[in-house]
Amino acid sequence: MEIIKFPDVDGVEIHINHNPSPPPPVAEHAKRRVCYYYDSSIGNFYYGQGHVMKPSRIKMAHHLILNYGLYRHMYIYRPFPADYDDLVKFHTDDYITFLKQAQPENLKTLNKQMVKFNVGEDCPVFDGLYEFCQLSSGGSLAAAVKLNKQKTDIAINWMGGLHHAKKAEASGFCYSNDIVLGILELLKYHQRVLYVDIDVHHGDGVEEAFYTTDRVMTVSFHKHGDFFPGTGDITDIGVGRGHFYAVNVPLKDGITDESYKSIFEPVMTKVMETFQPSAVVLQCGADSLNGDRLGSFNLTLFGHGNCVTFFRRYNVPLMMLGGGGYTARNVARCWTYETSLAVDVPVSNKLPHNDFFEYFSPTFTLHIDPSNAQNDNPPEMLDRLKEAVYENLREMPAAPSVQMQPTGPDVINLEELEQARLDNANPDERLGDEITDNMIVHGSDLYDTDKDGDDRRNEQSFKPPENPTSQQDRDGDTEMVDLERPVQN
Ligand SMILES: [Zn+2]
Repeated sequence: MEIIKFPDVDGVEIHINHNPSPPPPVAEHAKRRVCYYYDSSIGNFYYGQGHVMKPSRIKMAHHLILNYGLYRHMYIYRPFPADYDDLVKFHTDDYITFLKQAQPENLKTLNKQMVKFNVGEDCPVFDGLYEFCQLSSGGSLAAAVKLNKQKTDIAINWMGGLHHAKKAEASGFCYSNDIVLGILELLKYHQRVLYVDIDVHHGDGVEEAFYTTDRVMTVSFHKHGDFFPGTGDITDIGVGRGHFYAVNVPLKDGITDESYKSIFEPVMTKVMETFQPSAVVLQCGADSLNGDRLGSFNLTLFGHGNCVTFFRRYNVPLMMLGGGGYTARNVARCWTYETSLAVDVPVSNKLPHNDFFEYFSPTFTLHIDPSNAQNDNPPEMLDRLKEAVYENLREMPAAPSVQMQPTGPDVINLEELEQARLDNANPDERLGDEITDNMIVHGSDLYDTDKDGDDRRNEQSFKPPENPTSQQDRDGDTEMVDLERPVQN
C-alpha cells in the first residue's frame, strides 16, 4: 500500500493511505504479522459483587493463548496506558476529569456528576476505574498506531471493544470508548475505515460518534427488540454526509452459525466492494455465543470465528477487539480461538493445562456446542434484511470522495519516544512497544537460525533468567518485561 505524504498544512503533515482498488480477497492461509496487546493488571479490576462484567475473563483468555503456545506466532506488547489528552480526543474534558477523580470512597461528593455521567448502577465506580479505561483505550490506540505504521497486518486488543461508551456518558459497562479513539487514530492515515460489530448488543457508541461522516462506515449485527440499548433499527442508516454509512442488521433470538453466516457474508462482501475501506476494525463481543449470561444467540466458536476468517481473507489492515461476553469461560474460549485464527495456527480442541483449568469443567474442550433453542430468524426474514441493506448500499457513491482535514500528530511519536526511553532505559522498568517493536524477536524465529543468540531473549520472556549476571543479561531481560509469564499470573 502506497502512502501519499501531503505537504505541511500549518506545520501538520497529512498522510493518506492511497488504496484506489478494492482490497482483493487473498489466499486464506497467507502469512499475516500479528501484534497482540495485553496488560497483566487488566484481570485484577473488579466491577463489584454480582456484576456480570468480569475483566478476569481477559486474563483467562490470555492464559489459554499462552498455554496453547500461540505467543510464538505473534508479537506481544504491553501498551502505554492512554493519558488524559488521548481520552479527550473523543470524550469531553469534564467527563474524563470525573472518571479520573471518581473513587469508591468519594462518591458522596460526586453525586450530581454521577447522575450526569450515568455512573452508578450498571456502570459502577470501582477501584482503579480510570486505570482500567487507560489500559483498555491504550491498547486500541497502540494497535492503531502499529497498523498506521504498517508494522503489522492484524492488531489484537481483547482489553478493548467497549462500544457503548458515549462522548460524555458511561453506558452498558463501558466508560471510555477505545474503539472510537482507535478509529480516530486510524483516520490520520486511512481515507475510509470500516467498523464491524458482532457483539449481541448494538454498537451504539461507535455508530453515534461517526453517524455524520462518510469516512467511517459502521456495521452492527445485534439482537433487537426489547433489548439493551434499544437502538440499531434497520432504518437507522446515518445522517448528513454519513447518510448510508451506518448499517444495522437487527436479529432475533436463537440465531445459529449457519443463519448468521448466511447474512453476514453476503452483507459484508457487498460492504467491502462498495465502501472499499483501507482498514477494518472488528469488535468481537463474545456475548453473541450460545450460553451467554445476557445474550440469547446460539452461535458456537465456529460461527463467531467465521467473521474473523472472513476479514483475514482480505488484504486489509485489521484491528480485532474484545467487547461483551458474560460467561467468562466461553469468552476465554472464543478469544483464544480467534487469536489462533488470526495467526492461522490450528489449536487442539483439548484444552491445555492452565491456571483456570477447572473453569472449563466438565468438557475441558475449547469448543462449545450449540443448543437446541428455537431460531427466530427464518431465512425469509434474513433475506428481507439483506435486501434492505443492499438497497441502501446501492445509494452510496462507489468510492466516496474525501475532503481531508489537517490531523494532529500521531498519538505516539514512535521515533521520539523510542529514543527517550532508550536513553533512560532501566532494567527494572517496563518498556513500551515503541522500543520492543525493534527489539522483540518473533517467537517463530526460534525455529530458524539462532546464530545471533536472540533466542535467549525469547526464552526470557516466559522464563526468567536463572541468574542474570551481566548488564547484557539484564538488558536482555528489560526488553521483554512486557511479556506475560504464565506461572505468575
Ligand atoms: Zn454486548
